[in-house]
Amino acid sequence: MSKEIMLTGDRPTGKLHLGHYVGSLRTRFEIQETGEYENFIMIADQQALTDNARNPEKIRKSLVEVTLDYLAVGIDPAKTTIFVQSQIPELNELTMHYLNLVTVSRLERNPTIKEEIKLRGFNTSIPAGFLVYPVSQTADITAFKAKKIPVGEDQLPMIEQSREIVRSFNSIYGDILVEPEALISNSGCARLPGVDGKAKMSKSLGNAIYLSDEADVITEKVMSMYTDPNHIKVSDPGEVDNNPVFIYLDAFGKDKKYIEELKEHYKQGGLGDVKVKRYLNDVLQAELEPIRNRRKEFEKDKELIYKILLDGSNKARMTASQTLKEVRDAIGINYFNV
Ligand code: ATP
Ligand code: MG
Repeated sequence: MSKEIMLTGDRPTGKLHLGHYVGSLRTRFEIQETGEYENFIMIADQQALTDNARNPEKIRKSLVEVTLDYLAVGIDPAKTTIFVQSQIPELNELTMHYLNLVTVSRLERNPTIKEEIKLRGFNTSIPAGFLVYPVSQTADITAFKAKKIPVGEDQLPMIEQSREIVRSFNSIYGDILVEPEALISNSGCARLPGVDGKAKMSKSLGNAIYLSDEADVITEKVMSMYTDPNHIKVSDPGEVDNNPVFIYLDAFGKDKKYIEELKEHYKQGGLGDVKVKRYLNDVLQAELEPIRNRRKEFEKDKELIYKILLDGSNKARMTASQTLKEVRDAIGINYFNV
């Protein structure tokens, strides 16, 4: 029996950060290492262009940065096909077919899209391509018949929309497509908050610790992190539940017993923020140092990066064109080759 497919991706809008790491990257690596799946990772440059059409240079530059981040966390091109969305034109045709299966009002109701429109200040000037990106994402997923999609929480409405499109397609044209399932990390954090305490660490909010940050930058960010605002004196009892410092410790710390002791102490009072932050800093430094060093090694050979992406894209294209052929046959637009 052939293996199930894992597929996921990132928008090349900047370097990757700890949110990506605990929300999705680390799970991808773990899945890759089990050898149980056939693995695909897509760099969603076309999706990134839907809200960056006037800034293509950022996307071009980030393509390399994101690939370096993948390699740095252990994604291995021999085990995982890394490819570039724009290099697979078949995905665009699939998108066109799927667009006929969704309504504009359904797209406008997508909670993540709503939130992102607000965040980007589009008001009523929403690029049409942006509104339909969940449909294009459905094309990306279904072209590979992917079943497991390791993503952060913000992506759940996208996967739900994909499932609806797949069900609709299959009920009209026959069982061709595979319904994907989101895989939310249980060892990490489905939505890592920013160092400023905002709900999501994000490239665009300037509240991220990047995988490539140097040691002193990490320390500076950790030591100025937002904590419980009511924990003013060391003796004050503090809150741990919505406190980013403890959320990070839960996501990255290995010594769970010690972390529980710290939490108890913090809740009772008598444990200062500085002490907890110093410990968090040690934890993050230990996790990020090897990643940063590997990244620096790969940075020396940009040609290799482009070769990995080209080879991956060529391989991915073969799978996508096979699915497109099945889709064309199912719809019956195969006039000249029946
Ligand atoms: P952009 O602002 O350009 O949308 P982003 O930081 O949201 O960038 P994406 O490329 O959209 O990053 O997301 C890539 C993957 O990382 C998705 O699976 C997403 O759910 C996950 N992810 C991003 N930020 C976080 C976070 N703070 N916590 C957990 N997962 C996250
Ligand atoms: Mg995003």
